[in-house]
Amino acid sequence: MQLTDTQFNLIKKQFKDLKDRSPFYAKKFDSIDLGDVVTQADFEKLPFTDKGDLREAYPLGLAAVPEEKIVRIHSSSGTTGTPVIIPYTKKDVEDWAIQFARCYEYAGITDKDRIQITPGYGLWTAGIGFQAGCERLGAMAIPMGPGNTEKQLQFMIDMQTTVFTATASYALLIAEEVEKRGIKDQLKLKKLVTGSERSGEKIRQRIIDGLGVEFYDIYGLTEVYGPGIGINCQYGHGMHIWSDYVYVEIIDPNTGEVLPDGEWGEIVLTTLQKEGAPLIRFRTHDLSRIIPGECACGHNEHPRLDTLTGRSDDMMKIHGVNVFPAQIEELIQEFPELSSEYQIRISHLDGRDSMRIYIEASGSVDWAKASKDFAARAKSKIGFTPLVKIVELGFLPRSEKKTKRVYDERY
Ligand code: ZN
Repeated sequence: MQLTDTQFNLIKKQFKDLKDRSPFYAKKFDSIDLGDVVTQADFEKLPFTDKGDLREAYPLGLAAVPEEKIVRIHSSSGTTGTPVIIPYTKKDVEDWAIQFARCYEYAGITDKDRIQITPGYGLWTAGIGFQAGCERLGAMAIPMGPGNTEKQLQFMIDMQTTVFTATASYALLIAEEVEKRGIKDQLKLKKLVTGSERSGEKIRQRIIDGLGVEFYDIYGLTEVYGPGIGINCQYGHGMHIWSDYVYVEIIDPNTGEVLPDGEWGEIVLTTLQKEGAPLIRFRTHDLSRIIPGECACGHNEHPRLDTLTGRSDDMMKIHGVNVFPAQIEELIQEFPELSSEYQIRISHLDGRDSMRIYIEASGSVDWAKASKDFAARAKSKIGFTPLVKIVELGFLPRSEKKTKRVYDERY
């Protein structure tokens, strides 16, 4: 992605005193004079910042402003090891709300809408981001937080919610409940805004059909504000990323080389205006590509990232072959008799790795034949034959947060 003059000027402005303000970057760029970064090629030679570096700065080592300027912290979900703490200044909090309000606007949401917010509030950036954007836009926030499906449905009906915000997993759970109870005609839902979880085409379609909504996908991560740094417009799945706040690069995850627009790789982000904890070339481990060309909406100043295909750390290595959950999802897509939900279990038995895939059927299906056909198709796609078992719709667990689909039982 070509750095625009405006973006590069913002970067150079930060670089002037970055090492004075940030002990973290003073150390990281110890042997580098940031004044020497004058071309895009110079910028692309700067070392990446990785999540591991941020963990080492725990608790407040990332702060690039004096204590009195920090108004809030958030923390990324540390499922393993030390969490990452991100400090925010007043401007950071406002900038985040501006970006989130812009997301809602791109989705055609206005101050007449009622937005039911189910992502969690607290250390996690999700709920509060959806809320701040909603208030900035002037819409009515219904701050439910996660869980309590009974109450969610009651409020959705009584408050005549028009916009539902959730992880894709929870939106599916809600869509299935709405269908089970036959209450779709009591709802006023028009739009769904999801974030923080990659979702395949099939699950999207089931949610769209189940709730009768337009589907919008938000991008973001705690390290870089939170959800809200981009959203798809009504013309497609690509997400416009706000180029006045974030600079996007796509790199080869193995070599670190910057890839041309259109090629798939890992998303690397640089913040352009963040004060509390600026990030330079942060490796997200999310896999996508920059969609080349122009978008029909005309907002070409904000480049588009394609639907995420997964995370570089989702990769499963089996029989020496790299497999991504997205590949399994693509296969499921080819079988109309299969539904969206699946679970992969990898184990080590009798000296060799084995992969079992459980997939829910969408209706009546010849179970034995579907399993056999799927296994055969999988072999040609991933190079080995998994054990496939087709199960009833609703057999696999549903989640109010993110559904865990891969269980590696080898270790
Ligand atoms: Zn567009």
